Amino acid sequence: MLLLLLAGCSGQHEDVHETRFMMGTLVEFTVSDCDKQEAQKAIARASRAMARIEQRFTIYGDGDNAVKRFNRTPVGTAVTLPKDVAQLLMLARKVQRASDGAFDPALGALNRLWGFSREPAPTRPPAKAQIRAAKHAPGCLIHTRKEQWLRRSDNCQLDFGGIAKGYALDRGIAALKRAGIRNAIINAGGDMRIIGSHHGKPWRIGIRHPRKSGQVLGYLALNGPMSIVTSGDYERFFIYQGRRYHHILDPASGMPAHKAQSATVLHPSASVADAWSTALFVLGPKGLARLQQLRMPALVVDTQGALHMNAAMRALFHPMR
Ligand code: AMP
Ligand code: MG
Repeated sequence: MLLLLLAGCSGQHEDVHETRFMMGTLVEFTVSDCDKQEAQKAIARASRAMARIEQRFTIYGDGDNAVKRFNRTPVGTAVTLPKDVAQLLMLARKVQRASDGAFDPALGALNRLWGFSREPAPTRPPAKAQIRAAKHAPGCLIHTRKEQWLRRSDNCQLDFGGIAKGYALDRGIAALKRAGIRNAIINAGGDMRIIGSHHGKPWRIGIRHPRKSGQVLGYLALNGPMSIVTSGDYERFFIYQGRRYHHILDPASGMPAHKAQSATVLHPSASVADAWSTALFVLGPKGLARLQQLRMPALVVDTQGALHMNAAMRALFHPMR
């Protein structure tokens, strides 16, 4: 009887932690209130699901995928995208519209030019003429019908870098749930999705300080389902002639966005939170009102280091003293 009670995902168990390296970052799985073996099996499934998403959406590396093929198709030719790619693109476009273009899923050529996802990492900015040439006109992606899309210029190239990590978190959590897990966190380098609670109490989530490594701005006490995603200028950057250049670009200028050090957004869906954290980083503190309209808690650290948040976030945020 006792054995029956202890097996499976019910009753009291120690947390199970596992770490994997994926998507260019350490991904930490925490499963609560579940037998160790079951938790480990579920985590193995979730991490396989997440690794598949990475391969499906990345535009880097040697492997081929539908996104890379789309980026190679001749301009003006309609292509049917796989359902999951088309769905994520629809979400990306929705955030693009709602953020007045701050989020842009067609920045592939420009991102590649800056080279922040490349090895070795860049050490100086590209020439102004190169940036001009890699930018695309607004509305370069055309949705023809259903899953069919075409691109109107050669530098109009899909890059899901601002949203795919969130999507991988969503799929990872879905895999854990299918395996019977009810209480868990997947934390991909500070971007996380949580389900359930932690031994009956809310999960305690720290929000990283963008300039003081290892320190947090404050914390949130949250029950799942919820995702907490942060975009920051400290993730991938170089300093050139005293200026910081980082991986989140303002589509209008083609240059690194310059209104924030970090931006954090909460939403049950990690895909949505991820797209919006990138958009909010580009918009800066002014973007907080838009997120309030959408009822998404959000905060921004501006370039001076001052913390701004919307009312929805203020209701949840516990500052560090
Ligand atoms: P994140 O860390 O989620 O803010 O995403 C940053 C990544 O998204 C970059 O490495 C690029 O691949 C891509 N990216 C950069 N700027 C933008 C933008 N304005 N909109 C959408 N994706 C972007
Ligand atoms: Mg993002």
